[in-house]
Amino acid sequence: MNPVTMTEIIDYSRRHTVGVGMFNIVNMEFARAIFDASQETGLPVMFGIPERFMRNFYSPDCMALICREMIKQAKAPMAIHLDHGKTFDGVMIALRAGFSSVMFDGSSLDYEENVKQTAEIVKIAHSFGVTVEGELGYVGRAGTDELTPDSFTRPDQAEDFVRRTGIDALAVAIGNQHGRYQGIPKLDFERLRAIRERIACGLVLHGGSGIGNEDFKEAIRYGINKINIYTAMDTAAKDFTRNSFGNYASYLDYTKDLTTVVRDVVLEHIKLFASAKTM
Ligand SMILES: [Zn+2]
Repeated sequence: MNPVTMTEIIDYSRRHTVGVGMFNIVNMEFARAIFDASQETGLPVMFGIPERFMRNFYSPDCMALICREMIKQAKAPMAIHLDHGKTFDGVMIALRAGFSSVMFDGSSLDYEENVKQTAEIVKIAHSFGVTVEGELGYVGRAGTDELTPDSFTRPDQAEDFVRRTGIDALAVAIGNQHGRYQGIPKLDFERLRAIRERIACGLVLHGGSGIGNEDFKEAIRYGINKINIYTAMDTAAKDFTRNSFGNYASYLDYTKDLTTVVRDVVLEHIKLFASAKTM
């Protein structure tokens, strides 16, 4: 199989009334964990590679190659997605590396600049057959950014943004944040409903780790197609390493078990997202 774009992922989500998970990769074990979870369930999944990771840790060409090689053996559709592309150059690097989908996150720009830069990215990415996710409103980070309705996505502005940029999916801010929530987040479903009524493109929920199971399902029923998960995998890997690394005689055995631990987090989420239709 070849990597699919976000269009196929969104179509799948709509046909089955399910959410599709995008899981970020920090290394090859994480990539393997995501792939194994998809193979075990036959459910589609997106590999996510954030621009900040690819600048710090590894070459995007290398990670795209690893993902592409895995996808050749895949049973279900899989995409290679740039998560939180923040710069024009970062998005171009992802396009050259063969990503099948990109996010351009202009949410920290003023509105008109976000429209202008996102529209430019869409024009270029679409010419390569690559889909684009934009962000409107500001998702931010738990514990760092204040969560106020002022930073939430406005339905009327979302309609204008999608029309003027031509994006394939929109990341919304409806009470969700990145990182570790203090307490259980409260999502603004009425706002989500109003956004869904106004726009036809895919909808994405960032900051998935820590959202309650019923809220995930509710968000999918209200029109969320793609859900991003990273912190839950990071936490599981960190806790496993802290508690058990000293018990291993070999690094290889540790690595195998670490991959299983991360795979289980992915499995739990993709099964949950696939069960949204059932009340
Ligand atoms: Zn995000």
